[in-house]
Amino acid sequence: MHRIYNFSAGPAVLPVQVLQEASKGVLEINNSGMSILEVSHRGKDYEEIHHETTERLLRVLGLSAETHTALFLGGGASMQFAMLPMNFLSKEQTADYINTGEWSSKAIKDAKRFGNVNVAGSSEDSLFSVLPTQFNFTTGARYVHITTNNTIEGTEFFPMPYTAGVPLVADCSSDIFAVNRDHHQFDLMYAGAQKNAGPAGVTMVIARKVFLETATEDLPPMLSYKTHAKADSLYNTPPAFSIYVVGLVLKWIEEQGGLGKLEARNRHKAALIYDALDSYPDVYEPAVKNIAHRSLMNITFRLRDKGREKQFLEGAEAKNMQGLKGHRSVGGFRASVYNAFPEDGCEALAEYLKSFVHTA
Ligand SMILES: *Cc1c(COP(=O)(O)O)cnc(C)c1O
Repeated sequence: MHRIYNFSAGPAVLPVQVLQEASKGVLEINNSGMSILEVSHRGKDYEEIHHETTERLLRVLGLSAETHTALFLGGGASMQFAMLPMNFLSKEQTADYINTGEWSSKAIKDAKRFGNVNVAGSSEDSLFSVLPTQFNFTTGARYVHITTNNTIEGTEFFPMPYTAGVPLVADCSSDIFAVNRDHHQFDLMYAGAQKNAGPAGVTMVIARKVFLETATEDLPPMLSYKTHAKADSLYNTPPAFSIYVVGLVLKWIEEQGGLGKLEARNRHKAALIYDALDSYPDVYEPAVKNIAHRSLMNITFRLRDKGREKQFLEGAEAKNMQGLKGHRSVGGFRASVYNAFPEDGCEALAEYLKSFVHTA
């Protein structure tokens, strides 16, 4: 099998082992005489995969099924921007949002349709190249919303801000399973699978049960978390294939030794690239200067000499490295190095960054 170094931000690289197992499942699942693409979501073969994946998801995050609910929904992380306030925010209530980039800004825009939004911290003035460190939270806010990793800008929260008991809700789309956090600090987390957890088509929502119970029921059933919680994400046809592959990724994560091992590996991988960038400040400009705010997943940088951007990309492609172009809204370059991105690919990029300095 021919593999490139895929630095794409999402959909993104998956473990080869997962691709191999998934391709077998596409042909036949559990000696059933059917493909995973063909089985009924009400049948035994799929139901087993579904429930096992739900259990595995909570286990990998270090959460218990007694206290937490894990859901698999359609619509992408973007749908959660609306579904969250629809379920938890009313016109008389205020939710606090931390604005750290394009995805947070979209979440804020949607929340404003349903209730009051207080932007409790923002780094918009610095074009989102840092994380805010000062927050003005609302006493009695319905929840605080944070984006743990800013996929486009390349910043990532490690300690979460202290919210004084206000429920913390997090968009973890691009760093779920990458950092060994204490996930009990979140009352609700959501993540589209296609960055670090599987293929596109499914979004994971993990919520503390007591928080979920406070959601409104006055909603069309498909848009209500309670509907999906009551039905174990089988209210309607779930994105079965995507859930199946997320299950394979979770199995792979457990085989790797869990989130602690993955975080250590991710720190090493990111350091290879940041160190190379920082070694040549006359040539490269990392977009995020504050080391404590730098993402382990999405490494954003520019060339001081913009005239060499095309040469840089072409040289990288000649060395099997693809997907390094930055997001269209910020330009420059972005190396996305999720859990499944191999260490030798980070070494290859670091080598290339060093060699490019010497090619005029
Ligand atoms: C990619 C991304 C989204 C949007 O995800 P979709 O599944 O495409 O809707 C939202 N938030 C973050 C942090 C992301 O990285």
